[in-house]
Amino acid sequence: MLDFLNDDRKRGIELAVREIVKYPAPILEKKCKEVVKFDRELANLLDDMYDTMVAADGVGIAAPQIGVDLQVAIVDMGDGQDIIELINPEVVAIGGSEIDIEGCLSFPNLFGEVERPYYVKVEAQERDGSIYEIEAEDYTARALLHEIDHLNGVLFNTKIKKIVTLEELEAMEEEMEMLAEGQGEEA
Ligand SMILES: [Zn+2]
Repeated sequence: MLDFLNDDRKRGIELAVREIVKYPAPILEKKCKEVVKFDRELANLLDDMYDTMVAADGVGIAAPQIGVDLQVAIVDMGDGQDIIELINPEVVAIGGSEIDIEGCLSFPNLFGEVERPYYVKVEAQERDGSIYEIEAEDYTARALLHEIDHLNGVLFNTKIKKIVTLEELEAMEEEMEMLAEGQGEEA
């Protein structure tokens, strides 16, 4: 995170880290409005969401989480891939199912097992209004679906099958790191 801040300062870019809206704020449970104007304001919103997501160490964030009632979300696809910008996204196909642990920036310290499709295909718009499709599996499919849920006012706490405590989560993460080291992979 510090590297990110330093790089941006070098480029002379002002960071706009916004306050994250926490549950039970009413905006989090409303269906967001469709974006109709693909203008500078939308670009600024996306940039602010990016800065806020990175500062909060999240893998995705939706506009209502910074208090904006619009169908806009971003997801970090990981492994050095681009950040996906989802404007007016629609799930067009799903497949399979998987249970995994999720958290949410609007629920500090709540983690739980949530069942979601293993595969998803989403149609969305870019910041210039052009339409694109994205397919994802596993963890990235989960991240896309979690953020799209936000835009429909659906929160992950309503989908949790089993709560996972912070202690359990930390123990699992340690185990994963040990496994990754054992396989000679970077954690
Ligand atoms: Zn969330």
